[in-house]
Amino acid sequence: MSVRVVARIRPLLKNELDKDTIVTTDEADSGKAIPTVLRIPNPKNEAESFRFQFNAVYDQDATQQQIFDSEVSSTVKHLFKGFDTCVFAYGVTGTGKTHTMRGGKSLADRGVIPRLLSNIYRRSRKIEKDSGGATQVEVSMSYYEIYCDRVYDLFEAPEKRTPSGLPIRDNGGKTVVVGLSEKPCSTLKEFEQLYDQANINRSTSATKLNAHSSRSHAILCVKVTQTTEDKVLVSRASAIDLAGSEDNRRTDNNKERLIESSAINKSLFVLAQCVEAISKKQNRIPYRESKMTRILSLGQNNGLTLMILNLAPVRSYHLDTLSSLNFANRTK
Ligand code: ADP
Ligand code: MG
Repeated sequence: MSVRVVARIRPLLKNELDKDTIVTTDEADSGKAIPTVLRIPNPKNEAESFRFQFNAVYDQDATQQQIFDSEVSSTVKHLFKGFDTCVFAYGVTGTGKTHTMRGGKSLADRGVIPRLLSNIYRRSRKIEKDSGGATQVEVSMSYYEIYCDRVYDLFEAPEKRTPSGLPIRDNGGKTVVVGLSEKPCSTLKEFEQLYDQANINRSTSATKLNAHSSRSHAILCVKVTQTTEDKVLVSRASAIDLAGSEDNRRTDNNKERLIESSAINKSLFVLAQCVEAISKKQNRIPYRESKMTRILSLGQNNGLTLMILNLAPVRSYHLDTLSSLNFANRTK
């Protein structure tokens, strides 16, 4: 069981008016292949700066391929040994979580998720071929969101949703979401079609709820089943685009937003506690204390967990960036 926490600072955006870059890697790290220390001014005294250490810090020049190759590709080996893996993107809205996880359309812009799937399919074909057909690998996916602590299937058309969401139950020691669909997808193309449709469902349903999709956690779960004559090995790779971590209670007193914010805060808080417990190798991981960590069974099945902390470099995010950094600091 292990955890890595890495930070990724996005570049300045073309249309960004605030060009005052305040989040940087530390000079002491220059020359290192991958820096580990990040620096940000103290908002109360700009002469002073805070330093935060991570397993790695990626600056604005880091490419999608680099993030995948250095942080995610090695988890695929673990997955095929029968263990679960989890990648989270954490951060304020607008810092690059969706870019990191889903990415853009071009090959170079593809994010962690399509690259992960492409890797899984490649490895599956190789295992099948090397075993002369004795091993078969099947891939299936479920994709759901958690909004205000309710679970919604992203394969279900938004107009068919039950407002109260899908129930979760314990079933032989495992937590299952009752009625959640699981779609077989045996090629990258099949995966992409399903994934794109579900993402459209995600944005339409958000519009219907008069919410923004940044207020829900989007959880993709890829199940890999390896079948040989005498055994079946099942493992899961989860990739999670978390709800924006900004605290709307400061700025927005609307009742719906308050409910959203407290649900988000609570689930992110439990997530941080779980990640901390895993990284400190504590025996008790409080994964049962929120729906998301419970469904993920976080830290069970010898899981590998990767937290990518997305950050904007500019001053307009200063306080939110600091609270993201303090959050991540707690998980170590
Ligand atoms: P979030 O999902 O955290 O709200 P997004 O992924 O939507 O943030 O990113 C906000 C904007 O920044 C988008 O226009 C996105 O394309 C851009 N962006 C984020 N990270 C990068 C990056 N590493 N390189 C280029 N553009 C980025
Ligand atoms: Mg997003």
